[in-house]
Amino acid sequence: MKTIIEDMTEKINKQGMERAGEILKNGGLVAFPTETVYGLGANALDETASAKIYAAKGRPSDNPLIVHIARMEDLYTIAREVPEKAKLLAEKFWPGPLTMIFPKKPVVPYGTTGGLDTVAVRMPNHQVALELIRSGGGFIAAPSANTSGRPSPTKASHVEEDMGGRIDMIIDGGEVGIGVESTIVDLSGDTPVILRPGYINQAMLEEVVGAVDVDPTLLRTDCKERPKAPGMRYKHYAPKADMTIVEGAQEKVIAGINDRIRSALEKGELPGIIASDETADRYPEGVVKSIGSRKDELSISRHLYSVLREFDELNVSVIYSEAFDTPNLGQAIMNRLIKAAGHQIIKV
Ligand code: AMP
Ligand code: MG
Repeated sequence: MKTIIEDMTEKINKQGMERAGEILKNGGLVAFPTETVYGLGANALDETASAKIYAAKGRPSDNPLIVHIARMEDLYTIAREVPEKAKLLAEKFWPGPLTMIFPKKPVVPYGTTGGLDTVAVRMPNHQVALELIRSGGGFIAAPSANTSGRPSPTKASHVEEDMGGRIDMIIDGGEVGIGVESTIVDLSGDTPVILRPGYINQAMLEEVVGAVDVDPTLLRTDCKERPKAPGMRYKHYAPKADMTIVEGAQEKVIAGINDRIRSALEKGELPGIIASDETADRYPEGVVKSIGSRKDELSISRHLYSVLREFDELNVSVIYSEAFDTPNLGQAIMNRLIKAAGHQIIKV
């Protein structure tokens, strides 16, 4: 299959958008930018179309898809119940990087929800995404547009690497703004629960609806329970190299990483380092990449996945990363880094 690339980095191209909408309505796949990461879209109400997403990504079929909408009233077409707290959160954060889980109506096929009776819904805050959802019929299932197990795409070129030749169209909207996936909140109990941390953090949610819990499996300590969001159970965001996070006071982390780089080089390994703008020049050996500035959390989340992809291309065999427990996005950033590292953390 030849994948059409539509450039909408400067402005929305009306003809291209109409063509993209037709592809979706006919059961095809279109990758598109959102404010979080690039999504791989299909008509969420068409089971055959959703099935193509799983095939293109190599995604396990019990890992449900998020349905993207562009108008608040469309929520009621697919959600059987919309709790008061969900309405408040939607009012505050939609369009935006917040996904909420609702009991589903029968129009949403099990092929989209991974067999669950609930449906995850979000309204993205990106003009290209909103326009595409409208033009594609209003209900677009869209997981991240990467091959399952690879870092999520934050640029159209990442999507092309993974999906070129496998999907009908890629809309290029430039680099995304946030770079990590949406916050997922389950509202089925009395207290909302964060199933996946993202840009909208616990404090922001609590300001709107009072107490909010975090799924205990997301917290740093070893937890034997299974995460409630099915996708969080899979090994995700994995770079090819064996990755370890080194955590502690800054000077100790720098020294600890430099020690390990030296012994990796002695063993003939090609080591990589995930540093920050503030520390990058403190690592004299190994392939050093700055993820962003500690003074600008969004620069860190935005570059996280592209740094992992760059290390894949460079074929480094081991990666040592600093920890980034920043005040607002720290939980979202560390959740992804810890997964990329397969939970290998060294405290120094
Ligand atoms: P992705 O779009 O690839 O970031 O993945 C979407 C994720 O949303 C899935 O992997 C699940 O973890 C989560 N999710 C989607 N639908 C549901 C649902 N009905 N209940 C709980 N989690 C869900
Ligand atoms: Mg994903």
